[in-house]
Amino acid sequence: MSERRVPERRVQQELARARGSRRMLPWALLTAVGGAGLGVAAGGGWRAALALGAMGLGFALFLWVTSIPRCPACGARLAPPRGDERPRSCPRCRASFE
Ligand SMILES: [Zn+2]
Repeated sequence: MSERRVPERRVQQELARARGSRRMLPWALLTAVGGAGLGVAAGGGWRAALALGAMGLGFALFLWVTSIPRCPACGARLAPPRGDERPRSCPRCRASFE
């Protein structure tokens, strides 16, 4: 298999997207809990609380899935970058990011 190359710009975009989702994740979880609490407080009972909480949790789950950076070439999971470090190549398809 010939070595693939992925433009650095696409990797940066992917990392930025994952970082944005990760930053919103605690907020989404808080909204899920807050929404459930609001459902009870508004007199909706447990049914309303469950509906609102489930909606918030669904959103949080979606954010969690999108907060994982993936290889633009093959979709494999990339290790989340630490500090200024960024992945240099894909662990699965060996595409080099440059
Ligand atoms: Zn890959």
